[in-house]
Amino acid sequence: MFDFEISGIHLDREKRKRAVDLNVKILDLSSAFLMGTHFPSRIEKHLLPEHIRHHFELAGDHVLVDGLRAEVPDDLVREAAYKIFLYPNAGQLKCLEELLSNRDLLAKLVGYSTYSHRALQGTMAKNPETVMQFLEKLSDKLSERTIKDFEMIRGMKMKLNPQNSELMPWDPPYYSGVLRAERYNSEPSLYCPFFSLGACMEGLNILFNRLFGISLYVEQPAKGEVWCEDVRKLAVVHESEGLLGYIYCDFFQRADKPHQDCHFTIRGGRLKEDGDYQLPAVVLMLNLPCPAKDLPTLLTPGMMENLFHEMGHAMHSMLGRTRYQHVTGTRCPTDFAEVPSILMEYFANDYRVVHQFARHYQTGQSLPRNMVSRLCESKKVCAAADMQLQVFYAALDQIYHGKHPLRSSTTDILRDTQEKFYGLPYVPNTGHVGSERWYWDSHPTLKPCVLISPGSVRKLRGGEECPWVRA
Ligand SMILES: [Zn+2]
Repeated sequence: MFDFEISGIHLDREKRKRAVDLNVKILDLSSAFLMGTHFPSRIEKHLLPEHIRHHFELAGDHVLVDGLRAEVPDDLVREAAYKIFLYPNAGQLKCLEELLSNRDLLAKLVGYSTYSHRALQGTMAKNPETVMQFLEKLSDKLSERTIKDFEMIRGMKMKLNPQNSELMPWDPPYYSGVLRAERYNSEPSLYCPFFSLGACMEGLNILFNRLFGISLYVEQPAKGEVWCEDVRKLAVVHESEGLLGYIYCDFFQRADKPHQDCHFTIRGGRLKEDGDYQLPAVVLMLNLPCPAKDLPTLLTPGMMENLFHEMGHAMHSMLGRTRYQHVTGTRCPTDFAEVPSILMEYFANDYRVVHQFARHYQTGQSLPRNMVSRLCESKKVCAAADMQLQVFYAALDQIYHGKHPLRSSTTDILRDTQEKFYGLPYVPNTGHVGSERWYWDSHPTLKPCVLISPGSVRKLRGGEECPWVRA
């Protein structure tokens, strides 16, 4: 009932219709906004120095910037990517503002003072006041360690690039990677041969067997049952209760596929009127590289962890037994929905689990214990700075969904919140580093591109000429 009431089922006819209309509008706006965050930005070719152009896709007289290039050692490339990709786009800004004000209208219509109050009702945190208190306290306790992390990152930048050692927001992802690799020799490529997709699936099978008495079996789908021949169908079978449900594994990259790892339900489980149970069917979607000829798909430790995470969601759907399908499995408060998947990440980082399945795909050698501990230790490098970034996103999310009308423009709020909760300077004329963590991954095949108006690039640094314009 509560779930239905936050959507307005208890209102009179007219208000109910208004709630439905608002919901539709919100859905459209949020998908338009998210799509927009993936569109590449476009800039005239001659505005970028020639020696960095090859880092980006060329389209006639333009260069397309489709992501932040966080892995590129050249500071100038990361700076250019950051400033061009995050350059605010009027359409996106309008879409964001409309989305936020419609969410506010819906919340008020169904009886809440803000959208944040509506979203947090029924969660562990309960209300926005608790969330903000938590974030402020966390930020406070983190600050000393975050400063140390930033110092360490700055030190690495100074060592590699003594002429320009000021720490900017495009630096931490790259230099913390360098620190990790230097300290723990934990480059993903060293680990990939031990994490073939087959080995990882076997690892999940062993783990689920031990935890739940469950085995995964590959089943031949019927003709026309799957939407792409890459998709594998897994039957989830319990040792005494039998078949529990099906997981369709859509694991490999395709041109028209959304670039996001996720889990979704095709059919929820429920108790039928005749006493039988309707078995759940879910999809687990990843974006793994396609297997090459004679070579299995090899996962980086990050991909392996994602696989475990998404499998946690899938198992939640498989194991839940409810009367109604609207409340089955992951169809629960979103904070709780992440509990099983995050638990699975802990298994993916525990030697006792990993050593049972991580085998070199050519030699069969198991992943040495010190490599697992190096990997785990390396994750602690700059962890405070990483968490501080998440605190900033969370705080921004709270403010955007708090009291409306907003006290200033979304971009001004972004600037103030970044300065208060992150610590690295806000770069003028950047925006949309919103609450979506995966926003940082962009997808090059998503077109069309967003156009930066001619000449506007010169304004990227508040009017002064950008270094890469000196081509
Ligand atoms: Zn998740």
